[in-house]
Amino acid sequence: MSDSLPDGEPADGPVATATDGRRRASVRFEVLRPSPADGSTRARLGRLELTHGIVETPQFMPVGTNATVKALDPDDLVGTGATIILANTYHLYLRPGHERIARLGGLHRFMGWDRPILTDSGGFQVVSLGDLRVVDDDGVTFRSHIDGSLHRFTAEHAIAVQEALGSDVAVAFDQPVAPSSPREVVAGATERTHRWAERSLAAHRRADQALFGIVQGGLEPDLRAGSTEFIASLPFDGICLGGLAGDETPAQREATLDVAVPILAHDPRPRYLMGLGSPTDLLEAVHRGVDLFDSVMPSRVARNGQFWVPGGRINIRNSRYLDDPAPIEEGCPCLACRRFSRAYLAHLFRAQELLAYRLATCHNLTFTLDFMARIRAALRSGTFPASLPALRERAGRMRGSEASVQSA
Ligand SMILES: [Zn+2]
Repeated sequence: MSDSLPDGEPADGPVATATDGRRRASVRFEVLRPSPADGSTRARLGRLELTHGIVETPQFMPVGTNATVKALDPDDLVGTGATIILANTYHLYLRPGHERIARLGGLHRFMGWDRPILTDSGGFQVVSLGDLRVVDDDGVTFRSHIDGSLHRFTAEHAIAVQEALGSDVAVAFDQPVAPSSPREVVAGATERTHRWAERSLAAHRRADQALFGIVQGGLEPDLRAGSTEFIASLPFDGICLGGLAGDETPAQREATLDVAVPILAHDPRPRYLMGLGSPTDLLEAVHRGVDLFDSVMPSRVARNGQFWVPGGRINIRNSRYLDDPAPIEEGCPCLACRRFSRAYLAHLFRAQELLAYRLATCHNLTFTLDFMARIRAALRSGTFPASLPALRERAGRMRGSEASVQSA
């Protein structure tokens, strides 16, 4: 794609905050550097204040599915530069149970993490992991992927679970569908998502917890535009762009962002694209106006022995690294690169030593979060459009969903 965005699209309005008429005193989003009026990019610099701290945007959230980012402890996570993580409502509801976590003082205390946490709505896992699932207009009935027991999620229940967990940001219950789904399927799921958005808002009580709404609409421009307008008309604290980072092509995703984000051009709330994780995909979505991301991708590929480095990645299982005394990436401040060689990592992976997973995850998350920091620095100095070629060079060409990552 070119550096310029399609003609005639509105840039962000003047510096705005979401404080006017907001529902919760504990949430504040400030656009520090709006996207430039010349239309060269929709990227913007922001600052999201939550109950447990401040999140600079654009930002990436590592995923702690089971109240842990796999292989890392909270000190490791801080070391990677993480300021906010995502935890999965569906998984924590099934095990160990949201009521147990509430009794133990909430999710922050339970997992020993005192910075912000966003919980997803559970909708994605209910639809993609539940063995049996029946979606009706009121909710979803599904069987646990752990023990086959029968459960039901409604908008009200998804909110109650997230309030019990005590995350900084809760997300309205939605019905995600694969981007390639037939139009009638997308339309039905989008309608349900809208009704559940209103019910989620009505059910939500916690004043110290933000609530984000989810836009659906698949790849259909009219459905996506209608959903964006509807969700933006409701008093949510942030806008999630759902139903992407699935089986769509990068061009389809970018075309969909070109429909949705201009509608939000003067909307003072953060925009969150769920499920995107490769450096190239993050960069191109930031360029199109997205503020927040999450994905298991950096940590998952790390545990497969693939390390992200400027311009691409290395597969540490390749025998050429067995005698390589260099760090994974020269100058990287992560736990792995400060002390250890590629040769040591190659050995740990071959021996299936547990330390391999910790060091690898530290590196890929550090690379990802440092990449977001570089993006923010360029936005802060007003040089983001001019820096795009260098940022693209650093990101390499890796794209695609988590499932499509191939061995190098
Ligand atoms: Zn490193």
